[in-house]
Amino acid sequence: MAIVGRPNVGKSTLFNRLVGKRRAIVDDTPGVTRDVREAPAQLGDLAFTLLDTAGWETTGGEALEARMRRFTERAIDSADAVLFLIDARAGVVPLDESFAGWLRKRADKVIVVANKCEGRAGQQGLAEAHALGLGDPIPVSAEHGEGLSDLHEALARYIEPMPEEDEEAEGSEEDEAVDPKRPLLLAIVGRPNVGKSTLLNRLVGEERVLTGPEAGITRDAIRVEWEWKGRQVRLVDTAGMRRRSRIEAKLEAASVADTLDTIRLADVVVVVLDAADMADKQDLTIAGRVIDEGRALVVAVNKTDLLADDRASASRAWRKLADRLEASFAQVKDVPIVGFSALNGRGIDRLMPAVFTTYDIWNKRVPTPKLNRWLREMETLHPPPLAKGRRIRLRFMTQIKRRPPTFVLQVSQPEELGDDYLRYLMNRLRDDFGLPGVPIRLTMRKPN
Ligand code: GDP
Ligand code: GDP
Repeated sequence: MAIVGRPNVGKSTLFNRLVGKRRAIVDDTPGVTRDVREAPAQLGDLAFTLLDTAGWETTGGEALEARMRRFTERAIDSADAVLFLIDARAGVVPLDESFAGWLRKRADKVIVVANKCEGRAGQQGLAEAHALGLGDPIPVSAEHGEGLSDLHEALARYIEPMPEEDEEAEGSEEDEAVDPKRPLLLAIVGRPNVGKSTLLNRLVGEERVLTGPEAGITRDAIRVEWEWKGRQVRLVDTAGMRRRSRIEAKLEAASVADTLDTIRLADVVVVVLDAADMADKQDLTIAGRVIDEGRALVVAVNKTDLLADDRASASRAWRKLADRLEASFAQVKDVPIVGFSALNGRGIDRLMPAVFTTYDIWNKRVPTPKLNRWLREMETLHPPPLAKGRRIRLRFMTQIKRRPPTFVLQVSQPEELGDDYLRYLMNRLRDDFGLPGVPIRLTMRKPN
């Protein structure tokens, strides 16, 4: 789910209303707090993930309007539905019309929301919003929390309600398995010339040749979907390819923002490295962003055909890569690394199994009762420190979200628990529940 709309219509206000106030996210990297670009949100019994669009407006050097357009189109490709917000007090302005135009080709996914309608305000704007031709607008006031039940009704067409919290569900994690009809959103990223296009052509078959798209290929034609062992895969890395046909300098400028956009919209990101030159600083930066954004990461070492002559140095290079990854991303252990030659196809059959394995882990849900029994055990095995003369209590833990696994821990004195203890919990969590290779998030809260 994404909220789109021009500045000042109330997107952040609505975002905060649906996401609720959250404390800083604590990773197991000491002292790391950051704002997430994607947050678990809830309205009544509907739980969903909201993309925080505010950040999109300000990153990158592009003109604001171009960025808004790009985000809007990407949001509509990746989200189940898009909340298109207008300011009903201001009425529909030309920029709103632009948004409407970008959204029109997927009108079925668009929910028009007329904000700032508290009291009886905004009637004129509401009428104008009707005229956009994107369905009945829903009057709300994000600031005052009005109109949320109508919004709930509209969202319910796109989101399954949550099942009742149910102890019976324990032990049936398999029920939580990924919906096989929902495509895995795959991104293939990496420095120029590492072989991304060659790899993609291998994966989807030769009939869809994408290396160096000619000018004139429409954006819709670049959408790439395929099936792997009965499971749907959709590539989200399209802008980078589209841009390849443009001038080199421009490509460079755009590629950072582009890569980031692509990462944010993907489920699994394959970072392609060149075997001749692995773990370049830029590779590590890209991989780091994948983890920061909470995506599932697979490291792919391409062009292994170039290593074949010298096995000893190949294995040295390999070890160095594994070590560097291990050292660079303390918060993710055992990132899958797959080597192949996209050119001759050797080893390529190992890539998609690795992608789906890590995807399934990334989708895992640990049942609450199990988690709390585990928490009691951890507390006994390794009691939390004393703070102000009292033992810190680990009260309750629950997984609030999957994709990536995100946990909330209620602690009596969160600010006193300390990074060492958190790291201990994270490591045990990863080992005991089988969550290798994916970022795990842990938020601490004081009990209400
Ligand atoms: P964004 O730029 O789209 O993220 O907009 P913001 O969420 O920052 O809101 C812009 C302004 O509109 C702020 O001053 C908000 O307080 C105000 N605002 C947001 N929602 C409402 C609402 O429901 N009613 C009114 N009257 N003002 C609102
Ligand atoms: P991209 O910029 O990452 O999309 O890279 P391309 O797919 O366009 O590949 C860049 C160059 O690397 C091309 O000349 C490819 O033929 C070459 N290449 C791609 N994969 C391999 C590989 O597995 N082995 C070798 N030796 N060359 C490769």
